[in-house]
Amino acid sequence: MNTLDLATWQERARAVKLRHQAFINGRFVDAQGGQTFATINPATGQKLADVAACQSSDVDAAVTAARQAFESGVWSRQHPRDRKRVLLRLAALIEQHSEELALLESLDMGKPISDALAYDLPETVKCFAWYGEAIDKQYDEIAPTGPETLATITREPVGVVVAVVPWNYPLMMASWKIAPALAAGNSVLLKPAEQSPLSALRLAELAAEAGLPAGVFNVLPGLGPVTGQALGLHMDVDCLAFTGSTATGKRFMAYSSQSNLKRVWLECGGKSPHIVFDDCPDLEKAAQAAAVGIFSNQGEVCIAGSRLYVQNGIYDTFMEKVAQFAQGMQPGDPLDPSTTMGAIVDEAQMRNVLGYIESGLIEGATLRTGGGQTRLATGGFYVEPTIFDCPRQTMRIVNEEIFGPVLTAQRFDTEDEAVALANDSIYGLGAGLWTAQLGRAHRVARRLRAGLVWVNCYFDGDISVPFGGVKQSGFGRDKSLHALDKYCDLKTTWINLL
Ligand code: NAD
Repeated sequence: MNTLDLATWQERARAVKLRHQAFINGRFVDAQGGQTFATINPATGQKLADVAACQSSDVDAAVTAARQAFESGVWSRQHPRDRKRVLLRLAALIEQHSEELALLESLDMGKPISDALAYDLPETVKCFAWYGEAIDKQYDEIAPTGPETLATITREPVGVVVAVVPWNYPLMMASWKIAPALAAGNSVLLKPAEQSPLSALRLAELAAEAGLPAGVFNVLPGLGPVTGQALGLHMDVDCLAFTGSTATGKRFMAYSSQSNLKRVWLECGGKSPHIVFDDCPDLEKAAQAAAVGIFSNQGEVCIAGSRLYVQNGIYDTFMEKVAQFAQGMQPGDPLDPSTTMGAIVDEAQMRNVLGYIESGLIEGATLRTGGGQTRLATGGFYVEPTIFDCPRQTMRIVNEEIFGPVLTAQRFDTEDEAVALANDSIYGLGAGLWTAQLGRAHRVARRLRAGLVWVNCYFDGDISVPFGGVKQSGFGRDKSLHALDKYCDLKTTWINLL
C-alpha cells in the first residue's frame, strides 16, 4: 500500500542509489570497453544515469561464468530444498525493499508509483516465493515397462538460460522467467530493456545477498541490437526466453537458427479484443474494465484490451460510460500517489503513439476523447487517454499494436460477427467477453483464438495459471508449473534389470 506522499517520494527519488554497472560472476563491473548508455526519466525527460552497455566480450564473460557455475553443480546439483530456501529468502528481500524497487520502476519507465507498489512488486515477490515453494514438490516419472527394465524419465535443468525482457513491467516480466529457470537449477543471464535497467541491477544485488552463488545469476544491461543480439547468437547458451515485440521475437528465432539451435521461447505482442454483448450483467463494471484494460500502465500492456467490440443496441450508452472512466484517468506525476496513468516510456514511443493517433484521424476514425500530448511543461512524455469510434476493421489503429493509451471501438450485431472481428488479427494473446448467458460464455471463449480469455472480467489472473499467446503473440507459457517445462530437459534412462 502506498502510504507516502508526493514530497516524500520526491525526496527519496533524489537520494536513491542507482546501480549502473553490469553484474557478472557475482560482481558489479563496467563494460570491458567502458561503453555506456543513458537511461532517462520519462516523467521529466532528464537523465537518471549512464549504465554499462555490454558488448559481445562482456556477454562471453558472463556466459563463461554461468557455464562454470552450472558445471560446478554449486546450484544445479543443490538439493531442491536448498534452492527453495534461497528463492524464499530472495522473495523476502524483494518484499523488504519493495518501496525502493517500486521507486526505481517508476523513475525508469514512468509508471505510477502506486501501481508499482500495488501490483508489480507483490507479483514479483509472489513469483519467486511460488517457484521456490514448488521446486521441492516436483516428482519425476517411471515408464510402464516390463519387469526386466526400469525406465526413468527425469527432468534436468537445460544449463545456461538467457532472459531478454521488455520495459513495461521490468521486474515482474523478469521474475516470470528467472524464478522458474533458477528453481529448476539453471544458471541465468538477464538482459533488461535499455529503457529500464535499474531495478534488474538492484535485483542482482539482492539475489547475491539471498545466497545465489557467483555466476548463477548475471545481469547484462545494454542495447538490443548489441547485447541482445550477442546473447541470441551465442554458441554456449542453451535456452533463450524472450518477452517483447513480435519483430524482435522473429529476430531471436533467426539468431537461434544461425547459431546453435538454442531453444527459444517467445512472448510477443498483442492486439487483444474486448467484447461486450448486450446481455452484459453489469455495464458499469464492464465500462470500467474496458477503460482500465487499455489505459492502465499508460496502455503499455501486452494484454491491453485495445480493440473494443460492443453490441449495437448498447453501443452509445456503453461508450459514454467508457469515455467517462477514461476522462478520470488523466496522466499525472508518476510519483504522486493519486496518479493512475503516468508517462510514456520514452520520446520515441510517445511519437509512435501520437503517429498512430494521427493515422486514425486521417483514415476516418472519430475521436471520442483525448488525442493529444499533455503535461508538456514537465519535459516528460505524456499522452491523454484516447478513444476512437472506428467505422472499419481495416484501419491501422485497429490492426497494429500501438502499445499506448489508444482504444478503438466498433459495433457488431451478432455473436458470429463478434467472434470473426475478434479473431481477425495476426495476434492471439488475450481476449475478454461480457455476457450473462453461460452457454454463450463457454461457446465464445472456445472460439476465440487467444492464450488467455476473461469472462465478465479483464486482466484477472494468478501465478498458478499459464500466461502466453497463440499466432504471432508467441508460444511457450510463463507462470504456473507449466513454465518449468521450458527450462528443463527430459532424460530417458533405460536400465536393464537382468
Ligand atoms: P522490444 O522487442 O523492442 O524489446 C524487448 C527486448 O528485446 C529488450 O530487452 C531489447 O533490448 C531487446 N531487443 C530489441 N531489439 C533487439 C535486437 N535487434 N536483437 C536482440 N535483442 C533486441 O520490445 P519492447 O519495446 O521493450 O516491449 C514492448 C513489446 O513487448 C510489445 O510488443 C509488447 O506487446 C511486448 N510484451 C509482450 C508480453 C507478453 O507476455 N506476451 C509482455 C510484455 C510486453
